Amino acid sequence: MKSHAQVVVIGGGVVGVSVLYHLTKAGWKDVLLIERAELTSGSTWHAAGGMHTVNGDPNVAKLQQYTIELYRAIERISGQSCGVHITGGIMLAGTRERLDWLKMAKARGRYLGMDLEIISVDEAAKLFPLMDKSHFTGAMYDPIEGHVDPYGVTHAYAKSAQIGGADIVRHTRVTDLEARADGSWDVITDHGNVHAEHVVNAAGLWAREVGRMVGIELPILAMEHQYLITGDMPELAGKKEQLHAIDFEGEIYIRQERGGMLMGTYERAGVAWSEATTPWDFGQDLLPNDLERIAPSLEVGFAHFPALEAAGIRKVVNGPFTFAPDGNPLVGPIRGLKNFWVACGVMAGFSQGGGVGLALSRWMVDGDPGADIWGMDVARYGDWTTLAYTNAKVRENYSRRFSIRFPNEELPAARPLRTTPIYEKLRAEHAVFGDYCGLEHPLWFAPSAREAEDVISFRRSNAHPHVAAECKAVQNSVGLLEISNYGKFDIRGPGTADWLSLVMANRVPAVGRITLTPMLNERGKLIGDFTMCRIAADHVFLVGTYAAETYYMRWFERHMPASGVTVRPCAMEYAGLSVAGPNSRALLQSLVRDDLSSAAFPFMSFRRMEIGMVPGYVGRVSFTGELGFEIWATTDYQRALYDLLIKAGREHGLKLFGGRALNAMRIEKSFGSWAREFRPIYGPFEAGLDRFVDFKKGEFIGRSAAAEERESGGALRLVTFRVEATDADALGDEPIWHDGNTVGWVTSGAFGHRVNHSLALGYVPAALAKADSGFEIEIIGERHKAHRLTGAAFDASGKLMRV
Ligand SMILES: Cc1cc2nc3c(=O)[nH]c(=O)nc-3n(C[C@H](O)[C@H](O)[C@H](O)COP(=O)(O)OP(=O)(O)OC[C@H]3O[C@@H](n4cnc5c(N)ncnc54)[C@H](O)[C@@H]3O)c2cc1C
Repeated sequence: MKSHAQVVVIGGGVVGVSVLYHLTKAGWKDVLLIERAELTSGSTWHAAGGMHTVNGDPNVAKLQQYTIELYRAIERISGQSCGVHITGGIMLAGTRERLDWLKMAKARGRYLGMDLEIISVDEAAKLFPLMDKSHFTGAMYDPIEGHVDPYGVTHAYAKSAQIGGADIVRHTRVTDLEARADGSWDVITDHGNVHAEHVVNAAGLWAREVGRMVGIELPILAMEHQYLITGDMPELAGKKEQLHAIDFEGEIYIRQERGGMLMGTYERAGVAWSEATTPWDFGQDLLPNDLERIAPSLEVGFAHFPALEAAGIRKVVNGPFTFAPDGNPLVGPIRGLKNFWVACGVMAGFSQGGGVGLALSRWMVDGDPGADIWGMDVARYGDWTTLAYTNAKVRENYSRRFSIRFPNEELPAARPLRTTPIYEKLRAEHAVFGDYCGLEHPLWFAPSAREAEDVISFRRSNAHPHVAAECKAVQNSVGLLEISNYGKFDIRGPGTADWLSLVMANRVPAVGRITLTPMLNERGKLIGDFTMCRIAADHVFLVGTYAAETYYMRWFERHMPASGVTVRPCAMEYAGLSVAGPNSRALLQSLVRDDLSSAAFPFMSFRRMEIGMVPGYVGRVSFTGELGFEIWATTDYQRALYDLLIKAGREHGLKLFGGRALNAMRIEKSFGSWAREFRPIYGPFEAGLDRFVDFKKGEFIGRSAAAEERESGGALRLVTFRVEATDADALGDEPIWHDGNTVGWVTSGAFGHRVNHSLALGYVPAALAKADSGFEIEIIGERHKAHRLTGAAFDASGKLMRV
């Protein structure tokens, strides 16, 4: 084994070899893969090899498409067959809701260029005669599903990488990793050491153990997974290969395997494997079968596909593979560790392995993944993903692998975990809570405990009239919202302003003032949006998205000078309450000595104040678009502050409101939000943030790319639509049509209760951004007329915020 390499990839499963191949393709030749045993010795070797393009996250779906298209290329390069069978697939719906979900998936696929088709039960039965029609209501057909040979794929990647200059060492185990001061690594193995500039953890079933070598606990858990193969079936003899099928009711997938069928299940009572540590002596082993455990799924499967039962079971495979809490991969650099990368938690290696390898290799070589991979970024998780949290969430995710997640559905596992001091008080007011990074936050308030539950639906739900009442209260009197779930950063030191001026696109505000700012990467794309609140010359309170805290910190630390400024994430240190509406000033004024008039405390002011006995910061800003104030106090004061506002609010018509009402109101104002309107695939001009990019202030990251975008105008434009919807509103990811063609996609949608119509925000080609007519938005399979608005639907001039 060589003693030095630019990159050491740990793990020769389908993911590690894909990373290796993509690194060579990107031009890095001095790359070495170290494998403990033979290639495929983790979960790869016994996989069913199924692949499909559909994914809840359109950006992950794109990478899945890429993966499937890659197989022919690596076959050509390596001469190794991947055993690709593109049979096409059908997803079978047994209920109206599932058919609705399929219609939405089809619509999302449309703007990704996917050729999906909703078909009737009769058409489905023609394509897949093994099904018993009586159990189904409809189906979706996808022409590019199929399966591959796991061994063939792994070796095709490996050979292609070797042809590209990579080395692969087998039967060598990495036992430790030691960081050098310059950011490089000593990779310690049982057959000598390698000095590497970069290390990639692609250790699959052992990714947690390799993570622990560098002091991190990756949120990953392996679950046992079983599939069975039937005996030969006369129904298949002499016929074309059967399609892949997914049966949602049974959480079952099924495909042909030689003369029989392969059927796998994601059973409700899933069993975790090696919950705390994975044994190193586990090799190409299988786990004991437990047909009892999957009996309920098999029963459904045999009822829905009767010929399978008659064929009998020839073989059962039970093997472990890993999941992250949300079922998507963990990819990218680890905050705080230089040159340490992960590509793990990949539960669908044969659909996703290629995309993961591509994104990670670009990230390593170019400093940027080159695509929007927020949904797979390891930085989407933080401290709350303890071993037990991950365990609960992975089990839940496994048991619902093929289940529909309704847009208003909050999943119950691992809850409540994190709560703020007023949690019980809000519960007593019949709050319906959502889970955000493990933190409970109020979504809406029901009139009684009995009604405090979401009835899950794709259409307007039972919450609709209550959210309407909350919005009306904000519009007409004053609403109180908990905003503790915002991300917060305390930035201090003499270099504060200079540093912020470099990492943010807008100018740093004067002391006592607030500015909104996008954050751009070097390619001039949006990687964050923040509220900068200047407390003092050398002190800024920065507010952003809490879910992206680690993602932001990773970026901040990468661009941090050696001295002069410190950034401390403090989201859970400060609890937040916001009052908004025409009476909000009078309410807050009754509790503070400071003059809150517009002359003394104008829009976008920020100041330390005492609210009753509570010391806090008050910003004159509100995401609702109304006159409003955000109040930040350390968590120990939150109960007192809440009680004070509730008591004083009585005479001002105060009503509690939640995140759903806030979302509807910010859409009425065309205010974008991180991970929806603002993502690394859009530039600031495309997103309508031009006025928040200050070219006069001098250099900042992304400046020249942003200047180019300003010059060219960018390819896309964020547009607000009024939608002629009926009983369901757009939510996000619906296609936008123009004159009969799909031209864009919705990023957010909701019913605007203050304007009394359905709204959507979405991107369309810049050339169409001024089109006056011809737009439609597809909601659950139906196209609805959409009218482009020239400004925000509510208070377009922004007068109300400034009164
Ligand atoms: C029963 C079953 C059916 C499945 N069916 C499908 C399917 O139909 N479609 C699909 O896409 N996916 C399927 N999967 C999932 C698929 O197998 C995984 O997504 C994929 O194998 C993950 O690959 P990996 O490279 O991340 O991990 P692994 O395959 O676990 O590879 C990790 C490798 O790293 C090596 N390693 C670990 N630690 C070290 C170390 N310290 N030093 C050196 N080497 C090390 C291991 O020996 C191993 O070879 C299935 C899984 C199972 C169990």
